[in-house]
Amino acid sequence: MIVARARIGGVRGLVDVHVADGLVTSVEPWAPDRPPVGDDVLDVDGHVVLPGLVESHLHLDKALLGGPSGGSDLQGAIAWTAARKADFTREDVADRARRVARLALENGTTTVRAHTEVDPGVGLVGVEGVLEVAEEVRETQRIQVAVFPQEGLLVRPGTLELVREGLRGPDTVVGGCPYVEPDREAAERHVEIVLDLAVEHGVPADLHLDLADDADDPRFTLAEHVARATIDRGLQGRVAIGHVTTLAAMPRDDRARVLAALAAADVTVTVLPATDLYLSGRDDERNARRGVAPLRELWAAGVPVAVSSNNVRNAFTPTGRADLLDMALLAARVGHVSEPDELDHLVAAVTDVPRRLVDPEIPAGITPGARGDLVVLDARDSGQVLLDQPRRLAVVRGGRVAWTDLPAVAVPGSLVLDRRAAC
Ligand SMILES: [Zn+2]
Repeated sequence: MIVARARIGGVRGLVDVHVADGLVTSVEPWAPDRPPVGDDVLDVDGHVVLPGLVESHLHLDKALLGGPSGGSDLQGAIAWTAARKADFTREDVADRARRVARLALENGTTTVRAHTEVDPGVGLVGVEGVLEVAEEVRETQRIQVAVFPQEGLLVRPGTLELVREGLRGPDTVVGGCPYVEPDREAAERHVEIVLDLAVEHGVPADLHLDLADDADDPRFTLAEHVARATIDRGLQGRVAIGHVTTLAAMPRDDRARVLAALAAADVTVTVLPATDLYLSGRDDERNARRGVAPLRELWAAGVPVAVSSNNVRNAFTPTGRADLLDMALLAARVGHVSEPDELDHLVAAVTDVPRRLVDPEIPAGITPGARGDLVVLDARDSGQVLLDQPRRLAVVRGGRVAWTDLPAVAVPGSLVLDRRAAC
């Protein structure tokens, strides 16, 4: 496939992106006198093309559940969801996962890391439901499963065995949730078990590290411990930590030390602003805290930052459309972001940074060797896409059109994305 006349970030003029066997093979300047021809040319007419978006932190198994009336804090959301999990069936999980995965695809997301709960109550029902959808949509979207012990490992006997079993599935990641353990020692042990499983199974690790309003509870300030344990095991570049809202609560000097440790260990921080804003500051009578990790300080310290949706319409996050451009714009708003290079960082936070988490062995971006996953936007200026929130015109996965809502589309084949011409 050739995606012709594409406008991509950091490149002057238009380019033709060649894709074969699922990967980008070359990116060549568009030559008006030699337009590419053939059945597999997608002529995007100078529109902006981004790498396929990557939701590295999305809960498909508990999406679309709604939540308790009146809302709740983190503990309330976990308890409410734990009760709902008793009713989960594989079919019900697959049905909700399928709907959200589709929504994500239509918003340009070609890869999802689905954090999926396991515990002795729900067993592997969630994992099985999500894997069913992953197999179903394989051609159009990649769904990777992070096997996630939301209710703890040490505090919930029987869960570790289920995590091990879940990791036998295809394309899995080991998840973690140390803050639900009873004390600091157990929380540290939880982190170590998760990272040991990553080594044992040769998979990445992705932990829900903390989600607290302040940094007083020692179970919630494990970022330096994760950094050390990552380096000890040679897992640099393969560990992500989500929320980490305590970073926003720490004194500046402590924070600088923790950020330096995370940067040295190449640990990615996944910022989840929709959830963090919703669950944080619940007891604050005035000036409710935002509880979102400080983006600009993370970038300044050299910490890789991903942004993701986390949840769609459940007790943890009552809103959401699985739209990563929308989520990155929310992060910009809450993170005091204004500069062009910061907006570029946020685009990378939903493309290249999470791509490196799910595909550590291949280059990110639109470059030879990268995945042939692309999203075509109704935009002409790649520097403005977050502010413009352009409509998604087409999604390409591995060199095939995976989704488009343009009329008069022939797939595969030549597709002209000038809508007047297409009508
Ligand atoms: Zn999560």
